[in-house]
Amino acid sequence: PYISIPQMLEETVENYGDKEAISFYGKSISYRQLYGMTIAFASALQKKGVQKGDRVAIMLPNCPQYPAAYYGALKAGAIITQVNPMLVERELDYILNDSGAETIVVYDALYPRVKAVSAGTALKRIITVSLQEEMTPAEGDFTFSQFLSFSTGEVLPVQIEPEHDIAVLQYTGGTTGRSKGAMLTHRNLIANIYQSFEFFKHEVQTGSERCLTVIPLFHVFGMTSCMNLTVLRGNSMILLPRFDLEEVMQTIKREQPTIFPGVPTMYVAITNHPKAEEYGISSIRICNSGSAPMPVELLNEFERKTGAKILEGYGLSEAAPTTHCNPPFAKRKPGSVGIGVPGTAYKIVDVATGKEEVPAGKLGEVILKGPQVMKGYWNMPEETANTLRDGWLFTGDIAKVDEEGYLYIVDRKKDLIIASGYNVYPRDIEEVLYEHEAVQEAVVIGVPDPYRGETVKAFVVLKAGRQASDEEIIAFCRSNLAAYKVPAMIEFRSELPKTSVGKILRRALREETLQR
Ligand code: ATP
Repeated sequence: PYISIPQMLEETVENYGDKEAISFYGKSISYRQLYGMTIAFASALQKKGVQKGDRVAIMLPNCPQYPAAYYGALKAGAIITQVNPMLVERELDYILNDSGAETIVVYDALYPRVKAVSAGTALKRIITVSLQEEMTPAEGDFTFSQFLSFSTGEVLPVQIEPEHDIAVLQYTGGTTGRSKGAMLTHRNLIANIYQSFEFFKHEVQTGSERCLTVIPLFHVFGMTSCMNLTVLRGNSMILLPRFDLEEVMQTIKREQPTIFPGVPTMYVAITNHPKAEEYGISSIRICNSGSAPMPVELLNEFERKTGAKILEGYGLSEAAPTTHCNPPFAKRKPGSVGIGVPGTAYKIVDVATGKEEVPAGKLGEVILKGPQVMKGYWNMPEETANTLRDGWLFTGDIAKVDEEGYLYIVDRKKDLIIASGYNVYPRDIEEVLYEHEAVQEAVVIGVPDPYRGETVKAFVVLKAGRQASDEEIIAFCRSNLAAYKVPAMIEFRSELPKTSVGKILRRALREETLQR
């Protein structure tokens, strides 16, 4: 349907008003209550002069104020700028300036960071959110509750054109480079939740399921799969501000979630918890894994322990994000990210030219088309023209499709390693490393090598209580991989650097290695 995000929320309030929308540390908030906060926030924004198209930044961990500010700002016609709370001053300064946000809603612990850069930005209003004791911000700034008190209880009507009006500036995580603001319209967001809704309609109920929401809402995966999709279904989101394993396990035990969208590193942590089975993790039925490849070995282990079904999908900020998923209604293929969600066209083209389509089974760049594909990058016409060509979104991901149309993501173009002239895909090697019984996590990068151009280096985290030497791991790789793919070096770590959503940060490892 061609509706806006606030209209979607309003329909849910009408149908499921008394149902729980949010559970936060045992506190339950109904859809009617959430809507009350939404209207108050929208009205207060308007009272303070916020107009249609103005940018409102949100820099919060998962908490009830997040959806209230998000839906409230959209109701007032504003554009949300999603800001990762982990950003340091330089990065925050960049996003605030690039988006031109005049309002920011920020977690109070990060208030000093915003204050440190605010003079050089367009910021006019800073609204702080406290998760424990309320702190008082400086003169001229507001706490969330002070700000809500400006509400008249009425929101002046704003005309939203779903296909044209931007709802969210979703800044790409920058795991590969400079952060770009993907402009997602109301239509993009609505299309994407309906695409998933349709795909899972026989699997996920409305009005009764509970979604464990630990992926951050500022990330496109959390925003769509945990927040907007849960609201569309009139289900409940169990919000957790961070992934702390013990807290996640306790929450599962207490709240008995039925759906758990996550990233592979989260499933790894749960699988390896020494008492996983004792926490009642079998309440979880459906897990949507995305954002990074799910090693096959790990998928099997997680399913054996929980009885849940992991359906791996694929997406990116530029597509709001979901484009593919393993179908719950047809064959599921481990190692594949499944088929296109309804209304998504995709093909694999020659990496160098971006033109000729390559046959099934051959590698190329995956390109996409569908109602969820962004309007472009904010303020970046050149980048937009490079990424959106003839109506196709060029993903920068190397992939293949099989005869049945299932997509297999191999790697990012930028992560490709060229060793002695051979293309080496980190994923091939990582899959093998995960098969080693002592390995808990593994990631592979290319490091400069005077003879081979690049050579393969692996970083490995061992399972608790397990041991393995680098010679053993290299020998294991040698018996499972062609010689040119075998890592020349193994570095053992107690943990790997990750992005806020839990993706392993190859770039950080690459930079560290180069600096040595
Ligand atoms: P940036 O694009 O700036 O590096 P980011 O990685 O945070 O930032 P996202 O839009 O969050 O950007 O991530 C999208 C990318 O994640 C995809 O292009 C793809 O490389 C990767 N990805 C997503 N799902 C999967 C999956 N199931 N398997 C492998 N890779 C995936």
